[in-house]
Amino acid sequence: MRRKLVAGNWKMNGSLESIRALMAGIRSGMDQVEGADVAVCPPAIYIPEVASLAAGTAIALGGQNVCDHDAGAFTGEISGAMLREFGCRYAIVGHSERRNVYGESDALVAARFAAAQRAGLTPILCVGELLEEREAGQTEAVVARQLDAVLEEQGIGAFRDAVIAYEPVWAIGTGRTASPEQAQEVHAFIRNKLTPLDPGIADAVVIQYGGSVKAANAAELFAMPDIDGGLIGGASLDAEEFLAICRAAG
Ligand code: PEP
Repeated sequence: MRRKLVAGNWKMNGSLESIRALMAGIRSGMDQVEGADVAVCPPAIYIPEVASLAAGTAIALGGQNVCDHDAGAFTGEISGAMLREFGCRYAIVGHSERRNVYGESDALVAARFAAAQRAGLTPILCVGELLEEREAGQTEAVVARQLDAVLEEQGIGAFRDAVIAYEPVWAIGTGRTASPEQAQEVHAFIRNKLTPLDPGIADAVVIQYGGSVKAANAAELFAMPDIDGGLIGGASLDAEEFLAICRAAG
């Protein structure tokens, strides 16, 4: 039985003052979240502060990215060991903003995925198609290509301790959510793709949905058989909204 995971991706939002208020709000409602895991992924510079605000709660921490190398001359990057040292459990890799705004390739994302695992982090591998790719009927091919980049380097065993987030790019930050049926179709495709490689891993891997999830649509998305929680952008910046999504996953 998979346990749902709701992770908030705060992106490059917030200030010391606002994240303190946000964490106070989330903390105060955590006792009503049962049966689901909860994580937040703050901007890296706020991770130590958020770690201390999350201490003693069930709120896990994640980085929004991780360097593909373990240490050295990689200006602007943060290593997996550094994220671990400040209490992170997860690292998002391959978010569509990294792929499409900063040009990260499938190969680089796969290398970041591997580096996260080397450091003892659980990577949250984001996959998903652009609107034009969906309209051209290429959704499955795109998602398969993004998964294959990891599978070819690391094999199916890499998904024993990993999370996959299906995030159709056209649904991220647009207010346009995939319907539960549209999302379920791709989630089932992902699980079915992994099944012949290792049925146990395919069955156990958590596949989150991301793309304009909010309190009003979370329950119907999370009711689908292959949707195991969500990666939440905008709505994770509002404690009440985020908590309602976490409760919907429980
Ligand atoms: C995201 O950034 O991963 C995301 C899903 O954003 P939003 O919820 O705002 O669409």
